Amino acid sequence: MAIPRSSSVRAKIINERLGKLFPGSTKTLCALEHKNPFELIAATILSAQCTDERVNMVTPALFKKYPTPDKLRKASPIEVEEIIHSTGFFRAKAKNLILMADKVVTDFDGEIPNTMDELTRLPGVGRKTANVVLSVAFALPGLPVDTHVLRLSKRMGLSISGDPIKVEADLNKVIPPDERGAFSIRMILHGRKTCSSRSPKCPECDLSDICPKIGLSRE
Ligand code: SF4
Repeated sequence: MAIPRSSSVRAKIINERLGKLFPGSTKTLCALEHKNPFELIAATILSAQCTDERVNMVTPALFKKYPTPDKLRKASPIEVEEIIHSTGFFRAKAKNLILMADKVVTDFDGEIPNTMDELTRLPGVGRKTANVVLSVAFALPGLPVDTHVLRLSKRMGLSISGDPIKVEADLNKVIPPDERGAFSIRMILHGRKTCSSRSPKCPECDLSDICPKIGLSRE
């Protein structure tokens, strides 16, 4: 197939092909183990600069000891640090987890909110984490933009920006609202498996015929 000139046409085909490569719903594609929105937001905070596998190794103990925001807000920072130590940046993460839980209790009656504006008022929660929670926990439109989504969007010609907020806005124009969360996860999976930062496997990539591979020769 020739490379479609229109980014919206290209995005539609990329979305369809990634859906076949990585089938499943936003919920089933999410690798962070969780039973409710509170556990997901905590796991997502822990996933910064850390693998999902590593996060999944520490969260059972964390949620056993602190199963609710009210329990976590009263936690000793040192005890939380001990549990999450292996995820890295453990002091900042423990502090954010406790402050996040406290604000959830004081401002939202102990329930994780389900709007971007409210979620990003919680300590340790930026747009990326908020979009994970919106799309995975609440099945609402949300397109998390991480380093893989940034890189692939540029190579595929879906956004020329390096600013995650602008890239999110560009992708939102071409990906239907109810498919945004799964699209983001599939881009991440494709980035890890095939379109890596240093050695993209273009000859064996299922998107090679429609991907303009922008910037690759300079990377
Ligand atoms: S063709 Fe190359 S640049 Fe394009 S998505 Fe595949 S691996 Fe990435």
